[in-house]
Amino acid sequence: MPAPTHAKVVIIGSGPAGLTAAIYAARANLAPIVFAGHMYGGQLMLTTEVENYPGFADGIMGPELMEAFRAQAERFGSVIHNVDVTEVDFRARPFAVRTAEDEYTADTVIVATGASARWLNIPGEARLRGRGVSTCATCDGAFFREKHIVVVGGGDSAMEEALFLTRFGRKVTVIHRRDSLRASKIMADRALNHEKIGFIWNTAVEEVIGDDNATALRLKNLVNGEESTFAADALFIAIGHDPNTGIFKDQLDLDAAGYIVSDDGVRTNIEGVFVAGDVFDIRYKQAITAAGSGCRAAMDVEKYLEARETHHKAVPA
Ligand code: NAP
Repeated sequence: MPAPTHAKVVIIGSGPAGLTAAIYAARANLAPIVFAGHMYGGQLMLTTEVENYPGFADGIMGPELMEAFRAQAERFGSVIHNVDVTEVDFRARPFAVRTAEDEYTADTVIVATGASARWLNIPGEARLRGRGVSTCATCDGAFFREKHIVVVGGGDSAMEEALFLTRFGRKVTVIHRRDSLRASKIMADRALNHEKIGFIWNTAVEEVIGDDNATALRLKNLVNGEESTFAADALFIAIGHDPNTGIFKDQLDLDAAGYIVSDDGVRTNIEGVFVAGDVFDIRYKQAITAAGSGCRAAMDVEKYLEARETHHKAVPA
């Protein structure tokens, strides 16, 4: 077996956090290797127009923004592989980072694996996934032209999905488990005032019904317990995200929800392993905050490597 490729810094993840870290690390001459995952670009690849990323007064499409991040990271010498990391070993040094095919070693690692859409875990959901059940309006919305589409959730994601789906659906119904929205005022107002969007409050979706395709939902009113069947051709689930930390269990400190725990900055419990973006951000979860923490992680990596080199020079073997 050939010797593993060694890098001063390996970055796992390629959303705004990972690619900003790559831009900064590459410009610091650290020649980062980025594992972008087989679906590179993170959550912005699944979104439409980004209106709140500074610098784009007229907005920019999410995938276009991520192409630009990537091109900028590559311009300064980042090597980006569109593969998933399957295993890491932070117990030995240099750290080991493995993919299905290869092994790499690294002096430092920046974990920027982000988060993935949450599912409801109700009967019919998995069986009808891709046949009426989806977590991505930009991916699947166009399949439901002139249909009745349901969106579940009350946050910004749900409002964004519902607004986007009005381009296709005859009608869009948002079903939310409480009687008020968590979404920001601007997004909530847009959805509440949209002529094609209706709301059902205090209600849980308990089952997706349909043989080959979703045809109806079983609903439960959470105030009076009443159950009903609601005709719908599609269910888009937009109830938040879970951090992608499966491969770091037992190696990095995680909180009860699975987010990576850091010090007051971007250092994890393992010296030399840093974190950036939604995988540790329980509060803001914005593209701009992810990019900001990616920058911090790369700058801390640079300082850490510098200090280590100085120490090695000062202490002769
Ligand atoms: P979120 O803010 O956590 O909202 C999740 C929504 O889903 C909440 O309304 C929650 O209900 C509901 N929910 C959670 N679990 C549920 C379950 N099992 N069954 C039914 N409903 C459930 O998540 P998000 O909307 O994905 O947004 C995450 C972050 O990204 C936020 O900071 C948001 O501002 C940001 N974001 C911003 C934009 C934008 O600015 N355009 C777009 C997308 C996301 P409760 O309200 O009862 O908790």
